[in-house]
Amino acid sequence: MTLGFMPLPPPYSQAGTSSQRFSLVTNFKTFTTMAEIFVGPKETRFLVHRELLTHHSPFFTAALNGSFAESISQTVKLPAENPAIFELCVAWLYTSQLDPLVFFKDGKPAYYTLLNLYALADRLALEALRNQTIDQISDLAEQTNSVLTPSDTRILYEEIRDNAPLRALVIDLFAFKKTDKLLAEHPDDWHPLFLRDLAVYLKRPGTAALLRHSLQPWRPVSWQVTKACDECSRVLEPGARASACVSCAKVYCLRCLQRGEGRAGFETGTCRPWKGGRCRLYHEHRETEACQDLVMGRGGE
Ligand SMILES: [Zn+2]
Ligand SMILES: [Zn+2]
Ligand SMILES: [Zn+2]
Repeated sequence: MTLGFMPLPPPYSQAGTSSQRFSLVTNFKTFTTMAEIFVGPKETRFLVHRELLTHHSPFFTAALNGSFAESISQTVKLPAENPAIFELCVAWLYTSQLDPLVFFKDGKPAYYTLLNLYALADRLALEALRNQTIDQISDLAEQTNSVLTPSDTRILYEEIRDNAPLRALVIDLFAFKKTDKLLAEHPDDWHPLFLRDLAVYLKRPGTAALLRHSLQPWRPVSWQVTKACDECSRVLEPGARASACVSCAKVYCLRCLQRGEGRAGFETGTCRPWKGGRCRLYHEHRETEACQDLVMGRGGE
């Protein structure tokens, strides 16, 4: 995380330029105006610093900096939105974080809350929030070894746009995890388009051996970008020949690769693209900077 004297991206009015993380420490002095947001049919009122909204969201930039009536009164009405979900969005604006505890209900992951948050972040053009929601879903699926429920797939296919990378993440979770029993035996109906997408994905040539890593040659060019072998933990010195999985970003030294050869699928833990490949596969970075810590092969060949 970068806290420091980071200048704000200059023209707020141009969508696609707010690529940097908002720093509360250096930018409090610019927090001069509040915007009033009325959410839901009962017009629940939220007071939010305008600079936070316009920094992150081209939607709010247009609404609050333009020549519309809203920009003069600094009010925005969102009658179709859910105040509880908008509240999560406001908490994120002020903290740049999602509280993982919020996404559990009765000890189970509340994916539906995250899906609704993603849908809201999409409508409000909050790219960074969408990416963090992707991370939260990935972490939750990993920690609790769970996937979405049939009713979650309805939100995914009815509330969220067709080309959202969130759909790719969910399909990967079902494809790479052991979900055959769950799919076959769950008493509720999965969304038919979800089942179609999953079937097409599983039948696509080249993904037949889904549990395998997709290994490609990789060499660390310096100590800064090197990694340890995920099998034997030996740190790879710069220039060392190794292989990395383009999906999950796991790295294997030559010795482990040779020993692994011949073993079924080189099963050193199955491939989980949402662990190492989430930025490349499921994030969007049209308005925000790519996450360097998760980019695969940076500095590699
Ligand atoms: Zn992999
Ligand atoms: Zn090794
Ligand atoms: Zn990213």
